[in-house]
Amino acid sequence: MLLVAGIATICLPERGQTYFLSGDVLDLTQRHFRILNGFLDPEANDNLVADPDFPGSLGAELAIRKGVAEWGSGPHGSGGSDPTQDQLGSGGANFDGFYSGRAGVPGGTNGNIFSVINTTSSILAFTEVPSSDGWRIRFFEDPRDWNDGPDGILIGDDPMDIQGIACHEYGHALGLNHSTDADATMHAGVPSDKGVSHRSLHSDDVLGVQAIYGVKSASKPTITGVTWQGNWVTLIGTGFHPSANEVWFTQAQAPAHRHLLRKGNIPSSQQGTRITLRPPSAAGSGDVVVRLPGLSAQDLSNAFPLDLGVDFGWTPPEHYGSGGTTSAGTFELQWQSLPAASAGTFRVSFSGVPAGLPVVLFEGNASANINLPLGDLLVGGPLERTLWTVADSTGAGVMHVPIANAGPGQLRYYQAWVLDPSSAQGAALSNGLMVEIQP
Ligand SMILES: [Zn+2]
Repeated sequence: MLLVAGIATICLPERGQTYFLSGDVLDLTQRHFRILNGFLDPEANDNLVADPDFPGSLGAELAIRKGVAEWGSGPHGSGGSDPTQDQLGSGGANFDGFYSGRAGVPGGTNGNIFSVINTTSSILAFTEVPSSDGWRIRFFEDPRDWNDGPDGILIGDDPMDIQGIACHEYGHALGLNHSTDADATMHAGVPSDKGVSHRSLHSDDVLGVQAIYGVKSASKPTITGVTWQGNWVTLIGTGFHPSANEVWFTQAQAPAHRHLLRKGNIPSSQQGTRITLRPPSAAGSGDVVVRLPGLSAQDLSNAFPLDLGVDFGWTPPEHYGSGGTTSAGTFELQWQSLPAASAGTFRVSFSGVPAGLPVVLFEGNASANINLPLGDLLVGGPLERTLWTVADSTGAGVMHVPIANAGPGQLRYYQAWVLDPSSAQGAALSNGLMVEIQP
């Protein structure tokens, strides 16, 4: 079940319409959103293919941004390798959300932040409303496996699609209640495809959002391209104000409390088709928009991707070196969940160990490459024995690694060791694993 928290006024639809409006309307002070990526399922953050239409994001963050872009006033890329739709952005929904960067905390109920509650609930996600003065969207982590993959092929136990559910919840933030049309993204039921079909707005969703924000105006500013020269960015498009444009940039992707980076009173040239300016020093990869003086939908441009360089904000966990040989095979160590300090632990797994032998995990603050008789020692700095786990009957095991020794942004290095009297060297070391601790 999907739930809308809070009390909203329900406006009855006109005959023949199946969407329902809550009465909330987001003006241009509420167009920004941020994301605190606290998904711990490995399936939730295993899409590490950058999408040029959403620069600066990977994993669940990328999936959520795509869910928001579907409500936009025009096309916003193909969705990567998503076979479920030709392009994101219905072209008619006419609500341009703006990705303003990563959040370090879930924030209050008006903070416009997507985040995760790391507990079990029968509810998938909910949106805290009324939203006209801001909203908050939260996903419940368990018992399901959240998926970020653009291909729409879900894996894991009780899998669920982040992008589709984000698209549905964001519809609540925009002022839509549940639709009675079974095909609509805003329908209350969990679709049998676990949310993948929610990625694409139905005509009923488009009519609903247009009933709140109008149909896209011909005079609405539109960005169609971005070029660089030195430190200067030129926005190419139509409908820019002669002298009083405000340009919004996504903040560089470190957790911060700033909502928007904006520069005001920027003139345009060539009949309102060019704006040239220097981005603020704190700007990062993300979106750029142009805002005209005014507070209605036609005073804000589409959100256009702005790539200021690779700026993923987090380093995906990396395996390095190679695993040694035990009497059972190759000794491998793999990451299984996002190393988030807020969760207290993260999961790694090992394989290739004789059943019943205890495996010890070493941790350090540097990488190393020291050749020892039993293999390469790949972890450096003061070495700590973090924990040990006995290999199961298949020679594998899962470890819940405490994150006690590092804070967000720090790199930690891990390697597993097993005493294996039947092996050639009497012991073996696994490959190395590097992770960056997340908030
Ligand atoms: Zn709902």
